[in-house]
Amino acid sequence: MNLVLEQRSRRHFPRTCRKTSFSAILCVARICDVTLTRTHDARAANEDLSHHLPNGKGFVNPWDSFREPANSSFGMLGKILMARWNRKTDPQASTEEGIPKLRPVDFEALAKSSANANGMALTWLGHAAFLLTLPGANILLDPCLSDRCSPVSFAGPKRLVQTPPNVKLDELKLDAVVVSHNHYDHLDLPIMQNLHKNNPDIIFFVPLGNKSLLTDVGITNVVECDWWDSYKISKPKTTATNWFGKSDNSVEITCTPCQHFSSRTAWDRNQTLWSSWHIATPQKSFFFGGDTGYRSVFEGDNEDSVPTCPAFRQVKARFGPCDLAAIPIGAYEPRLLFSPIHCNPKDACDVHVDLGSKKSVGMHWGTFGLGFEGPREPPGVLREELKKRGIKDTDFVIVDIGETVEV
Ligand SMILES: [Zn+2]
Repeated sequence: MNLVLEQRSRRHFPRTCRKTSFSAILCVARICDVTLTRTHDARAANEDLSHHLPNGKGFVNPWDSFREPANSSFGMLGKILMARWNRKTDPQASTEEGIPKLRPVDFEALAKSSANANGMALTWLGHAAFLLTLPGANILLDPCLSDRCSPVSFAGPKRLVQTPPNVKLDELKLDAVVVSHNHYDHLDLPIMQNLHKNNPDIIFFVPLGNKSLLTDVGITNVVECDWWDSYKISKPKTTATNWFGKSDNSVEITCTPCQHFSSRTAWDRNQTLWSSWHIATPQKSFFFGGDTGYRSVFEGDNEDSVPTCPAFRQVKARFGPCDLAAIPIGAYEPRLLFSPIHCNPKDACDVHVDLGSKKSVGMHWGTFGLGFEGPREPPGVLREELKKRGIKDTDFVIVDIGETVEV
């Protein structure tokens, strides 16, 4: 399968996209199976670019819901050490009870599911990694599938639960890989290299500034997006592996805002953009939260009166309520440190409500021990929060690693 980029107004394309379009022009001469069309250009459409620093110096969270934690203060340091100590002395902390259960992915059921006609199926692969099955495409999101989320393979946070044993990278029939930002627990470069090696036609979608990280290791077909940029991918009826003769089974992928930061080394903080993603077929829509905070809660703050991140309300205003969402619920303690960049279950419920999500799946918990709350805590806290608000626990679910949710 080869990639074709159709573009409507070439002069509005940033330089990175011109490169894609040049290689795309070369592809036209060969057999062209996937059409990639830019359907919305944020810059050309005069979208708000207040998340860009002047002169290309990087990116910021442009809302007052984000505040930098005072992480140099002694008070903060003391609280972090106390949280770590409490976790160590928690008698349950060393047991595995409550971390996600693991099951093989039921690919047979997936092949027969409504995702092949007019629905969508979302399979959790642990942490923020999902396989999204649609009538027009199979998409892998934030595929951090290595044993550790770290720059090196011998140190760093180690996986508490394995990925489903029957997920073989060379057997997945993928059309696209979508990545939220460059942190190691979301952008797993060796896995992405492997995916590209197995299928060089996969299109990789990343937020601005992340393209070179992939192309430097030989990954091609990389599409870099600013917040609110949209692309449509579609396949001709005759060649798509999962095409069921629908009049339009294209998929529109939009890079959307969220409240986070980026860094791959000690020297590149916020040099590249972070994002959430909205993925829509003509029938259904899905929102992928990536990694996000919702409000900043520091010493003496009342959680309920600090400003909240408007990104999710903006997504709903633009696209309508989503049918399905993956929302982070873990790595939130200590709140002083993590609230600006990670949701706790209370924040996650607000995101669910802001999106008007009809069904949400909790992610970013139980797979790597990243927060100090302990890997087993988020689901229970989420259930309490749902109860408090009168949200059904079938509307915001916790699933096993390997389990599929269909809408
Ligand atoms: Zn992150």
